[in-house]
Amino acid sequence: MVETSAALAASAAELGLSPGEQLLVAAGVVAVAVLVSLLVLLRRQHRRQNSLLRTDPLTGLGNRVLLAEVGERVLAALPELDGDGRHGPGLLLLDLDGFKDVNDTLGHAAGDALLVQVARRLDDAAPAGAVVARLGGDEFAVLLTTPVTTAQAVLHGKRLLAALGAGGFSADGVDLDITSSVGVAVAPTAGRTIGELLRHADLAMYEAKRSRAGVLPYTADLAPESSDALTTLSALRQAMDQGELTLLYQPVVDARTRQLCAFEALLRWQHPTRGLLTPVEFLPLAERTTLVSPLTRWVVLTAVRQAAAWRRAGLDTTVAVNISASVLEPGLLGIVDEALARGSWPPEQLVLEITETAVASDAGEALEVVRTLGERGVRISVDDFGAGYTSLGQLRELTVHQLKVDRQFVTDLLGGPEDEAIAASIIDLGHRLGLRVIAEGVESGAAADRLRDLGCDELQGYWVGRPMSADLALERWQPGAARAAGAPGAEVSASPTSPATG
Ligand code: C2E
Ligand code: CA
Ligand code: CA
Repeated sequence: MVETSAALAASAAELGLSPGEQLLVAAGVVAVAVLVSLLVLLRRQHRRQNSLLRTDPLTGLGNRVLLAEVGERVLAALPELDGDGRHGPGLLLLDLDGFKDVNDTLGHAAGDALLVQVARRLDDAAPAGAVVARLGGDEFAVLLTTPVTTAQAVLHGKRLLAALGAGGFSADGVDLDITSSVGVAVAPTAGRTIGELLRHADLAMYEAKRSRAGVLPYTADLAPESSDALTTLSALRQAMDQGELTLLYQPVVDARTRQLCAFEALLRWQHPTRGLLTPVEFLPLAERTTLVSPLTRWVVLTAVRQAAAWRRAGLDTTVAVNISASVLEPGLLGIVDEALARGSWPPEQLVLEITETAVASDAGEALEVVRTLGERGVRISVDDFGAGYTSLGQLRELTVHQLKVDRQFVTDLLGGPEDEAIAASIIDLGHRLGLRVIAEGVESGAAADRLRDLGCDELQGYWVGRPMSADLALERWQPGAARAAGAPGAEVSASPTSPATG
């Protein structure tokens, strides 16, 4: 700046101005220079203030202001984004369970230390491009700026929980075991403004905490003012009678021989106006009411009846059904007995998939039901393993036969040595406990090969086959069927060749 002013003054001399005039020009030039420097300084300070305005001083994460600004920007682009109305930016809201206790018993400094560690883990676990913010207290938000489906956002939520669950926290030399709950709201279904998304994610988070579900997406019925709950529930009740519910079946194969081991039954609702709904869109609602019992009965009866029909047609295999945590009560025994009796079906060829959290929560009765089922010969599978908090002690106590490695660890498998180490140690753990280990979410041949080499017993995922109708399952997987290369599933598919041809 000074050099520029000197140079300008020199050029004024060259122009042949009188010394007085030169002095005036020089003074003017210096004044302008000072002004410019001042402006630069002011702008820097303004930027610093701006960034301070958008930063949480304790953790260095963004704050509510930043979240609102970025949120509004990505949501403004929404009309171009939501081609199918199901993709949009997503908001994950998270708060820590029992944070108040830490503050009360260990003091605020310990509380702050914990928040800083949580912030760092969340920041590391959040996907690229996401905005991680602390909204206040122990409340954090992750804004997914690239469009996602609700199911994908839920998966991101599970990843965040897994990151918080991996390794403890310590504050003030005390080891803390911190759990958390995540509410998910994805635009445009769960809102078109950041305010709406925040409100809805908050409702979902509250519900996740109440039901100890870990991660829950917002559904219209969670809104207290909504009558949607009742409408959806009565529609679901009718759907069962009117044949709007169906099961799709997804193949599970032996990792080495690639022979069929089982089909997992996955529930769908062909809604008259909303189209084909996946479980995440209606199951959480049913699970909060008594409707979940007749629904489970319908699923188990239908799946076993289907397996018996396949057998008559020459396809003899095992069928797996998913069992909600809330039906792990004595009534389930009656449902299973009825299904086995009706289909004259051997219990060893029925697998019940229960999630880790289901057996981890209040234990008592649920554990007893699982034990009884195991004694009757039914196979028990621990679903989504690694995503929740089963204690190893519980696993040993249970009559469990299989572990299904949670999809997140399988998807990340080829990501790097750490990711592979996680998958490898889950497989190893399962084997040491004498269990069969199944990997779900296998989306590529490379992942399938790697899992086999790591000793994984069975594989399931889009690469093996998409969830498909019962008829297509029979056609594709009957002994001797020539499984053609290309889209193996009934759902839209971009899968590579079926492993049977590879
Ligand atoms: P899950 O038991 O973990 O089932 C696997 C889910 O992953 C299915 O989603 C399946 O379509 C999807 N999937 C399979 N392979 C791949 C893959 O390679 N990549 C990816 N990205 N996804 C894959 P779906 O059918 O939407 O089911 C979601 C969840 O809903 C299930 O998760 C299960 O927990 C629950 N569910 C499904 N059917 C029933 C049911 O009849 N009763 C109960 N209680 N829960 C059910
Ligand atoms: Ca399952
Ligand atoms: Ca699973």
